[in-house]
Amino acid sequence: MCSDIAGKPEEATTPDFTTLEFTPQVPIPDYLTGEIQSKLAYVDQQILAAQVKEDQITLKVASPGDLTAERRAEVIEKVQRVVLSMAKGAFKPKVQVLEDHLARPVPYHSDPMTELLASGQISQEANGLFVLGPLITRLVAYFEAQFLALADSFQAAPYRFPTLIPAGYLERVNYFRAFPHSLTFATHLREDLEVIDNFAQHAACEHSELQTPPNSFAPIQALLSPAVCYHLYFSLADRPLPGGRVVATAVGNCFRYEAINLTSLERLWNFTMREVIFVGEKDFVLENRELARQRMSQVFERIGLAYRVESANDPFFIGEFRKQAAFQSAFQLKFEIRARLPFKDATLAVGSYNYHQDFFGRSLNITLPDGAPAHTGCVAFGLERIAFAFLAQYGLDPASWPAEVRQLAA
Ligand code: ATP
Ligand code: ZN
Ligand code: MG
Repeated sequence: MCSDIAGKPEEATTPDFTTLEFTPQVPIPDYLTGEIQSKLAYVDQQILAAQVKEDQITLKVASPGDLTAERRAEVIEKVQRVVLSMAKGAFKPKVQVLEDHLARPVPYHSDPMTELLASGQISQEANGLFVLGPLITRLVAYFEAQFLALADSFQAAPYRFPTLIPAGYLERVNYFRAFPHSLTFATHLREDLEVIDNFAQHAACEHSELQTPPNSFAPIQALLSPAVCYHLYFSLADRPLPGGRVVATAVGNCFRYEAINLTSLERLWNFTMREVIFVGEKDFVLENRELARQRMSQVFERIGLAYRVESANDPFFIGEFRKQAAFQSAFQLKFEIRARLPFKDATLAVGSYNYHQDFFGRSLNITLPDGAPAHTGCVAFGLERIAFAFLAQYGLDPASWPAEVRQLAA
């Protein structure tokens, strides 16, 4: 409701959207502006863009005409609810920096998207869906070779996992509660002659949306997988861990619906992740996570990547955010490799070093020889992201690339 808002909202109207500006109900600390801004993508379908500052929120809200007072109040009330849930009583996490190479000199300072699109090296199919041409494909192969060498150094066993994941799996590891906003559901037409015939004859797209009666679709049994390592944990569920420890590696398609945050190659709906996964005793997992970081540090030094490794949290949904993020931070469960994007003076997570304690061991009943639940950890790299960050630092001309990358990827 409007009366809940500190300060009177101001708006400027244009034919296609209305800009709403208002004061958050509680001041938003610096370290939460990004987290809250990214969540506003999920607050209302009409929100086209959001900007969050300590004492001001600006929304671009789709409205063919003027936005009604009722809609305006409704949108603002929903945003204030998010602000309260995420910012009220929050305390600043202590950011731990394990490596800082952000100042490494790099030769390129433009947004590579412009050149990539102009040269036809990438093309966009839809929001968050990109075709990658030979330049990025070869770069991805180069980085994959580095990650495979890392996996080999641990004698990781290779796996291939399905792109779909059973709904019951995600339920069992609490994924629906933690990350409902970014799920992508898979379905199919019901096994019913009439439904299928009807679809075959009338299916058509309007505004990129398939016009199909919702009851044509079967109940959802599977989703598109949001991560790689869950598949391994489920394959180990409900039995003693073979040999007391497992190291595995796999690459897979991952899906996270990030709504209006799906911009450029930085944030995709469909991306590819390479993971090296450790399952065993606590010390085994933590020591290997640390070893992986040290080994990757050498790779990034050879390549001349400007980046930093710092503690982070997963993008939990609004209601779960405060508690879970604080927990992850307190126990140093997640560190991100954040590469510098010189063109926007920002950083982007190209990978993460994760420790889940015995969460999966307990939830999935994976047991160590002494009967205790296994601990797990994973090292995960976003392949499109690392290629993008490299291009943002070194440009599209292989002549400017470090020799090793040029030789192997150009
Ligand atoms: P971010 O903080 O950028 O939202 P995340 O913390 O959710 O990423 P992880 O769950 O740690 O990411 O996933 C491992 C890696 O997968 C990330 O470091 C990143 O490189 C990549 N990744 C995650 N989400 C996306 C996405 N939407 N598009 C492209 N790559 C992604
Ligand atoms: Zn993982
Ligand atoms: Mg993150």
